[in-house]
Amino acid sequence: MAGTLYLCATPIGNLGDISERCLEILRTVDLIAAEDTRRTLQLLNHFNISRPLTSYHEHNKREKGEYIIKLLLEGKNIAQVSDAGTPAISDPGEDLVRLCAENNIAVTSVPGPVAAVTALILSGLPTSRYAFEGFLSVNKRHRNEHLESIKNDTHTLIFYEAPHKLKNTLADMLKYFGSERRIAIARELTKLHEEILRFTVGEAVEYYGETNPRGEYVLVVEGAPEAESTDGGDIWWSGLTIKEHVKAYIKDDSKESVKAAIKKTAEDRGLPRREVYGEYHK
Ligand code: SAM
Repeated sequence: MAGTLYLCATPIGNLGDISERCLEILRTVDLIAAEDTRRTLQLLNHFNISRPLTSYHEHNKREKGEYIIKLLLEGKNIAQVSDAGTPAISDPGEDLVRLCAENNIAVTSVPGPVAAVTALILSGLPTSRYAFEGFLSVNKRHRNEHLESIKNDTHTLIFYEAPHKLKNTLADMLKYFGSERRIAIARELTKLHEEILRFTVGEAVEYYGETNPRGEYVLVVEGAPEAESTDGGDIWWSGLTIKEHVKAYIKDDSKESVKAAIKKTAEDRGLPRREVYGEYHK
């Protein structure tokens, strides 16, 4: 009879977050497939666990995947762990699960920490509908296409980001999401220097103009405002110029009414207010 693949979530910082079940599985499996065997060995040593380890990562996943499937078919039980958090979430695991499904091998999950959900629940932003966007590509074109494709998405958006790319990413978010969208920047989750900063995108760009990012980051961005529609079809303002769009919101001749209309138009279109202001006063 074939063995079972256990997808074991490990801590994203605080070792106290490992579950009893995870420790039990790690102690009893025949083999642990680890993204980085040295890092996993440190974790195992901390918990006095000694089991055979093999590496399974992005660059050997084809050959190693086949090898792991062969062992599972022979009846071995195998745990898969990534460097931190939940396997298969911006980490190896997805392909192994697909291979197991194709070979009718049982897969089960030992759930635990995942940085995306930890950041989401701390963000103060809506949690009922969200989209995980992972890392933005370093390729400029792919990155722009990705941001363009989600700029009107109404779900709360979750991104992973490396510290040295944070400033560029925020600058791109300003371009695509506008300055007024809310963003929560979660840093070093579950660690000593855990920090959640809640800004607008514009404020975040300003803040990181003067602060150097350090540590691990998750960015949680407010979704685009729900579009109001005339007949359940197209967005009501899609055929309007920016000026016409602002005018549609103006209630009277007062400055306050014009200002509020510019703000609402900017929110609808995901544009900086100053851009809408410029178009309206042209
Ligand atoms: N599989 C992991 C999970 O379940 O969250 C994610 C692995 S991905 C390669 C690593 C990224 O996750 C980091 O670059 C960062 O964006 C995020 N991350 C992981 N640990 C974190 C932490 N303690 N605080 C903030 N972000 C973290």
